[in-house]
Amino acid sequence: MATLEITFLSSQLEERKRRLEEAIAMAPRNTSLGGLLHEVDAALERMSKGTYGFCEECHDPVEQDRLLADPLVRYCLDHLTESQRAALQRDLDLASQVQRNLLPPTNLKAGCWETSYHYAPVGPVSGDYCDLIPSDGHLFFALGDVSGKGVAASMLMTQLHALFRSLIGVSLPLGQIVTQANRVFCESALAGQYATLVCGQAKSNGEVEIHNAGHVPAIVVGKGGVLRIESTGLPLGMFHEFDFSATRVQLEVGDALFLYTDGLSEARNADDEYGVDRVTGLVRQQAGQPPAELIAACLHDLRSFEAGGPRLDDLSLLAIRRQV
Ligand SMILES: [Zn+2]
Repeated sequence: MATLEITFLSSQLEERKRRLEEAIAMAPRNTSLGGLLHEVDAALERMSKGTYGFCEECHDPVEQDRLLADPLVRYCLDHLTESQRAALQRDLDLASQVQRNLLPPTNLKAGCWETSYHYAPVGPVSGDYCDLIPSDGHLFFALGDVSGKGVAASMLMTQLHALFRSLIGVSLPLGQIVTQANRVFCESALAGQYATLVCGQAKSNGEVEIHNAGHVPAIVVGKGGVLRIESTGLPLGMFHEFDFSATRVQLEVGDALFLYTDGLSEARNADDEYGVDRVTGLVRQQAGQPPAELIAACLHDLRSFEAGGPRLDDLSLLAIRRQV
């Protein structure tokens, strides 16, 4: 573990020790306080001996994110006790349920737009953000990918969800909503955490305004062929002051917009990466299909590409079609 983390954790432990000693002075008969103080002292002793951060069972390093969350952790994930394992599983199940409840309705229709999405975490929780918010006859849509994986990424994902949900309620132009969301996200994300995002507004006249902030290309498909909407900005959470520019496209009846995370474009089999070109080709073949069928065709093609190999990243797909 790097010196910086050790210094941070050591100051965390010293702070806990001080708080515990204060609490013990106030409530000397509370034996659980004494037990905790003993654990903190033992952790500080492991630090001074250089054995801190290694599993007491296998002597491999304990996962760093777990130590940062709880500096008293003494066992790696592989060597938790039965009750610790059950407690961890309960936390993850609950987190997964909370995250599922944040998803928009399936097959949502809003104004002249019909939609479908597929949201599949690789573990119990996902760092992908998928949202659809109807508002004044328009439809706000977003698909994003928070850096990293697991619980930390899923917490930032829930924050993006809350940010956009509250900002959409305030009548601001979309560009300003993205700029504001970026500023708040910068304040709260840890250094090195960011989110790529495609979001936009599909209007009742078929016009779609799209912002692509560092995300893989969005794809528009219709009778006129396919159009890729590349990123025109940086991911959210990197710089406080940054203006995001929009792309505007006009969708006719039957035209669709397809968004995905890199869980699709960067999926791999033994020899190859799936790639944006294959995504584009597949979407072109499916021109005119309803959103749910476009998503199903994509999943079918991905499964045959992966040929039974393991999936390594969260996967999200979102299709929006103009129906009238
Ligand atoms: Zn271990």
